[in-house]
Amino acid sequence: MGMVKKKSEEKPKFRSIVHAVQAGIFVERMYRKSFHMVGLAYPEAVIVTLKDVDKWSFDVFSLNEASGEHSLKFMIYELFTRYDLINRFKIPVSCLIAFAEALEVGYSKHKNPYHNLIHAADVTQTVHYIMLHTGIMHWLTELEILAMVFAAAIHDYEHTGTTNNFHIQTRSDVAILYNDRSVLENHHVSAAYRLMQEEEMNVLVNLTKDDWRDLRNLVIEMVLSTDMSGHFQQIKNIRNSLQQPDGIDRAKTMSLILHAADISHPAKSWQLHHRWTMALMEEFFRQGDKEAELGLPFSPLCDRKSTMVAQSQIGFIDFIVEPTFSLLTDSTEKIIVPLIEEASKTETSSYGPSRRSNMKGTMNEGTYSPDYSLGSVDLKSFKNNLVDIIQQNKERWKELAAQGESDLHRNSEELVNTEEKHAETHS
Ligand code: AMP
Ligand code: ZN
Repeated sequence: MGMVKKKSEEKPKFRSIVHAVQAGIFVERMYRKSFHMVGLAYPEAVIVTLKDVDKWSFDVFSLNEASGEHSLKFMIYELFTRYDLINRFKIPVSCLIAFAEALEVGYSKHKNPYHNLIHAADVTQTVHYIMLHTGIMHWLTELEILAMVFAAAIHDYEHTGTTNNFHIQTRSDVAILYNDRSVLENHHVSAAYRLMQEEEMNVLVNLTKDDWRDLRNLVIEMVLSTDMSGHFQQIKNIRNSLQQPDGIDRAKTMSLILHAADISHPAKSWQLHHRWTMALMEEFFRQGDKEAELGLPFSPLCDRKSTMVAQSQIGFIDFIVEPTFSLLTDSTEKIIVPLIEEASKTETSSYGPSRRSNMKGTMNEGTYSPDYSLGSVDLKSFKNNLVDIIQQNKERWKELAAQGESDLHRNSEELVNTEEKHAETHS
């Protein structure tokens, strides 16, 4: 009797494993088939640059060149694939590609030196890096991961290259439409959602009603929180909530990650940070040129003749970037340390192989199998790396400030003009 019982108990178990393996092979085949039919073809140079996509030193400008100025499209596709979002949310691949291409067109509309598709690709990769290396991806639900990547990709869509204040002062159409409140940020979300009203770009077509609504709430909150005018209040609120026993607000934590990624270039290598700064300054100076034409006073940092670039960068790092990243590391630590401890005690699957061990490798599969587990998270290195680079960048600005600023101004214009000529000859 015992044997019979044992056998009948084993049988379904055995069957389910066989079924699982068969289903796995089937899904894998379907996946490869659909990839070859409608997926995105990766040029060799793109595959090479994307090998660094998990690194803080990832060079988004190289990806942009390797992809023929399509860094955002490849970044979106790569991360949607890696996090298995395409399968999980049944996103039609053709819609995803059409949507990503439309985003790129919108980001290029105003030919901005800074707020362009490369900045969107950069922020999206940085959000990915933070989720991966803080371990926050193990705390987030799949829908929240979708919200993070999606919000980063759209967060500056159709940016005009001018500030909210410029829109308000010139009484632009968008300022009137949004009553002077987070004018650009409201437009970024609204215009991106409008794209998805076209059937061929509706990436969210197969989400349940609840998922669609939850995602929308998260995306709106996150993108609106990139408005710098809410920065100090945002930091203060999250700081205070860290003191409360059960004070962790999921949407606020996600907003902090996006906001930190958005202002992360001063924490990147000098070569990247310097290039981003020069691009942003040129964008500000072009606004200053417009302000002068319109007889309006210069906005801060917008007068190309008198702006102290190096000094202002030191101020921006001291007052904005450092406190933001310090709060980011404190918040993630508060969330992740108990998770790691709990997982190591109970030896649940989330500690050993990752809860998301099904996270897909790159298109050149076979050679790629990094450790994504919660156990491999090293918060100390994450923090120390940031602190070191920020410090080094501050030193470089101090040296430049001491040398005098005059050369720097000429450099910003020359650098951006050379890049624009380069882009023109390549398009
Ligand atoms: P976003 O417009 O969404 O990219 O929000 C980030 C904002 O932060 C930018 O528009 C700038 O106003 C500001 N910002 C980012 N980097 C710097 C910087 N290096 N110096 C001064 N302001 C910066
Ligand atoms: Zn931005």
